[in-house]
Amino acid sequence: MPSVIDTHAHLDELPDPDTAIKEAQDGNVLAIVAVGQDIFSNQKTLEMAGRHPGFVFPAIGYHPWRLNPDHDDETLAYIDENLKHCVALGEVGLDYKAKTKKKIQKAIFQEILAIAKRHDKPVIVHCRYVHETAHRMVKEAGLEKVIFHWYSGALDLIPLIAADGYYMSATPALLYNPYHAKAIAAVPLSNLLLETDTPVQYQELAARPVHVQVTLQETARVKGIPAEEIAAHTTRNARACFGLEGL
Ligand SMILES: [Zn+2]
Repeated sequence: MPSVIDTHAHLDELPDPDTAIKEAQDGNVLAIVAVGQDIFSNQKTLEMAGRHPGFVFPAIGYHPWRLNPDHDDETLAYIDENLKHCVALGEVGLDYKAKTKKKIQKAIFQEILAIAKRHDKPVIVHCRYVHETAHRMVKEAGLEKVIFHWYSGALDLIPLIAADGYYMSATPALLYNPYHAKAIAAVPLSNLLLETDTPVQYQELAARPVHVQVTLQETARVKGIPAEEIAAHTTRNARACFGLEGL
């Protein structure tokens, strides 16, 4: 099995993360980028990364589903304070199916992008039904490293995102989702990352980080390119994006 990096996993949501981490190491996963969603999840993510240095690399964030006006200030302050220990800021973004009003989501996202810019960190973006706006906002914030995770936006936006040097990631949803497959087929190798979004349930597959190998095989299938070649490109991209050069 080729060496791969899982660039998006919610390790804090696994019942037994240490076993899943060992399983990933045994399955030729070189590293995991663990993402946070709120203060509690960010704390757990940082703790877990502390226990697995050189393998679990933390990102902290504020997921659009978790926005809560009582916690906004505290969460943003926590991110600002702890981002220096992280490889990226995420998971953050915009989701027009989430309960928080669009205007409020955008205002918080804008504040978050300013924090990322100040710390010069990549941003891991969740977006649903709002890719164009998210793309415009990250550009306007002057960000150089952005990951549109589980890319499922419009096909005609892909070359524009790629032209900015931003990344788009593939998930095991390639197993059954023709729309995600079409999108990933169109993403240039230079802008592609692999992930699992652990612990998402993909039909019968309950994702763990080792399943980034499934993402790899499915990406190879939809792109018609050998898995070794996809692995080489996406691993290089992940190293460059998250500054994992020492790996
Ligand atoms: Zn996620």
